[in-house]
Amino acid sequence: MANRRKKVQKAANKHPKLFLALAIIVICIVAVIVVLYVFEIGPFKRKDKPAGNLDGNVTEVSDAELSIHFLELGNKYTGDCTLIKCGNTEVLIDAGSRQNSAATIKDYVDQYCTDGVLEYVIATHAHQDHISGFVGNSVSGGRTGILYQYKVGTLIQFAGTNATSQIYNNYINAVEYAQSQGTEVYTAKQCWYETDGAKKTYYLDEAQKVSLNILYQKFYEETTSDENDYSVCTLLTQVNENKTYNYLFTGDLEEEGESSLVDNNALPEVELFKGGHHGSYTASTEKLLNVIKPKNVAVCCCCGTTEYTSNTDNTFPAQAFIDRVSKYTENVYCTTLMIDYKAGTYESMNGNIVFYYKREGEGGVLKLYCSNNNTKLKDTEWFRQNRVWKG
Ligand SMILES: [Zn+2]
Repeated sequence: MANRRKKVQKAANKHPKLFLALAIIVICIVAVIVVLYVFEIGPFKRKDKPAGNLDGNVTEVSDAELSIHFLELGNKYTGDCTLIKCGNTEVLIDAGSRQNSAATIKDYVDQYCTDGVLEYVIATHAHQDHISGFVGNSVSGGRTGILYQYKVGTLIQFAGTNATSQIYNNYINAVEYAQSQGTEVYTAKQCWYETDGAKKTYYLDEAQKVSLNILYQKFYEETTSDENDYSVCTLLTQVNENKTYNYLFTGDLEEEGESSLVDNNALPEVELFKGGHHGSYTASTEKLLNVIKPKNVAVCCCCGTTEYTSNTDNTFPAQAFIDRVSKYTENVYCTTLMIDYKAGTYESMNGNIVFYYKREGEGGVLKLYCSNNNTKLKDTEWFRQNRVWKG
């Protein structure tokens, strides 16, 4: 080592100018590398940043090439309605929570769907908090339901049901109306087996980078007394230059259905998971979460609602649900907050929750915009008073 240093010293003494020039070149190269790294230029460009609480804005949502919206539904009831927009193609998954939600949903959807066409509609299962908005109300002879208000390209629905309710019968009438207007109607089972013209995969863009994939679970063909387990499950896959993003929607699927879903599909890790069954303690099981490892979770519910139970641990989103999900992410968001169920009062929690993909140069980033605020569930006042974060 000492010998080598001596040699360098000797060379420097012999050629001082050359040595100085070399030293300057080395310093310049190091400086350029540092600048490129710090400002993410050229080979140091971080093309796909990890998803997180990346605050967005509503203008960016309108311009985004892909956006996923979890809607507030305009009343005190928990229910599901998810809008996916990819270019001029829209997918609406469910239309809860009650018949008067149809108008709330239409007002929202019309901000993003300007041609009156919903290319795809999915009805996950036959419960009223998922199908009521498809039916809507009769207003002086007109019908406000989503299936009456829009031209629907393809409707994919549950294969099985035990439903006998009035709202279910009205839903069937609405589906028949859509069919009479040219809508192609398939069950999830037909999609999975690709029978009668149904497909397992529907591309939402011309470049075929964004696909809506109907997943398999056994209750597409087996019977169950748990209506929730009939839920249609879909995986939205977005292939980007450097990273593929996945988004999972399982309706109100419960433990047995989730188990079958894991056993029958090569599920990827997902950027976003719609919290199973409104954040119920009966869904979003460890078996599923351990495979999909969600980075973000959106829950469609009225936090603390006593609609289904007065056991405060189990009101949506349940403590058991939070305990399981918190192992994977702290990015959990909820649409609505119950104030007083009996009085019918509620307010926005996050409000409408929107995840969208924003292109930045050659890559892109997943961002979040909520109509009320972007506060994580664990940081809300309701959470501090009602739940514990174990992480
Ligand atoms: Zn539900």
